[in-house]
Amino acid sequence: MKVLVCDPVAPQTIQALQEAGIEVDNRPDITAEELLRDAANYHGMVVRSRTKVPAEVIDAATNLKIVVRGGVGLDNIDVKHATSKGVAVRNTPKASSNSVAELALGYMLALARHIPQATMSMTAGEWQKKTLKGTEVAGKTLGLIGFGNIGSLLGRKAAALGMEVIFYDVITPPDPGPAQQVSLDEVLNRSDYISLHVPLLPATKNMLNAETIAKMKDGVYIVNCARGGVIDEDALCEALVSGKVAGAALDVYLDEKVTPGNPKLYELKDENGFNLVIGSPHIGAATVEGQARVGTEVADILIEFYKENF
Ligand code: NAD
Repeated sequence: MKVLVCDPVAPQTIQALQEAGIEVDNRPDITAEELLRDAANYHGMVVRSRTKVPAEVIDAATNLKIVVRGGVGLDNIDVKHATSKGVAVRNTPKASSNSVAELALGYMLALARHIPQATMSMTAGEWQKKTLKGTEVAGKTLGLIGFGNIGSLLGRKAAALGMEVIFYDVITPPDPGPAQQVSLDEVLNRSDYISLHVPLLPATKNMLNAETIAKMKDGVYIVNCARGGVIDEDALCEALVSGKVAGAALDVYLDEKVTPGNPKLYELKDENGFNLVIGSPHIGAATVEGQARVGTEVADILIEFYKENF
């Protein structure tokens, strides 16, 4: 079995595959053109989020049997087309859940205490003690939209900090722990913090928009470590400027690159000149522990597939 690794993975993953007898081409910087040209040479592909596997790559990959996405979302792979061609598509759904939940939790505390803004003011040589008065998260209500692997982990952590946790999900989980399932409207109008943990689907695209934001409490904080498209960024901009939303923490964006004017949300300032938006460049899963778990799961999936099919 010959596998093409298209994005960076841990050296241990490559080693485990090779030790199992799988031939590996490690090309973590492969371009879209090179992938299209060389795809037919491989039985398996490993991708993270950078490499796209559209229908034309699947069509070109005439020997392909399996694509493994190290991570959760499968939006960079044309899963329907792959399945129709008999190509298995697998991911590592739980490997990075705790890393993402911890980032979202960190963001709630950072929003409550203005930690990034305080750091920026100290860096600028200012002692802004009076303007940096925060709030506690204990006693506040966290509304989770999406209560799967990440949302439910975050719910348990937030409850341990003394938050009331409510959630909206299309399914009813068997064991919601300390969290209470409510309607979407209830999440919107009861929450002091709203954190998004749904996949990007037609039903979740722009789920937070001008209309749903209008139903929120004044001064709500929004955290998005899910996917950029689930929030209408223009509506969020307007709500931040009007003060309806007191602040937002974002790890994901509609257009995931930094260019002049993008993401424009970082240009928004409060009356003290502090950022209304804090955030990061899609680092939710980027922890030592999370990456190690992703690497182990990717190797396990491929080795099992190899043993069963070759
Ligand atoms: P999951 O599949 O375990 O949970 C998603 C939940 O959303 C499910 O319970 C599902 O029923 C619910 N859902 C689906 N459609 C819905 C709708 N229309 N309304 C309400 N709920 C709906 O996924 P997860 O592991 O918890 O991950 C959630 C999302 O986080 C992923 O889809 C991915 O987009 C994102 N993610 C981001 C990072 C990052 O680096 N920031 C890393 C991993 C995952």
